[in-house]
Amino acid sequence: MTAEHLTLLLPSDLRSMRIVCAKCHGSLSIRLNETVRVPNDCPVCGQAWKDGQSSGSATAAENLVNSLKSWLSIEHEKKPPFSLQFEIVNTP
Ligand SMILES: [Zn+2]
Repeated sequence: MTAEHLTLLLPSDLRSMRIVCAKCHGSLSIRLNETVRVPNDCPVCGQAWKDGQSSGSATAAENLVNSLKSWLSIEHEKKPPFSLQFEIVNTP
């Protein structure tokens, strides 16, 4: 028998989104109660984050966080008949 440990993450557990540069691994943490906007460039090394073939990734990241913020608002104000939980697999 194999035991798999799962951690459940609630949307309300989320506090910030960390943007990590693929080039220098520098990061920027944006609290979810702020306007979430991916900067044009990495604040550490200047790598472009919104140019070229990956230009849709910043929009996708912003949409993801804005969707989470919308859900948190609905959860708080409208008490939906279900909740959301995200499963995270723990590695031993
Ligand atoms: Zn960087």
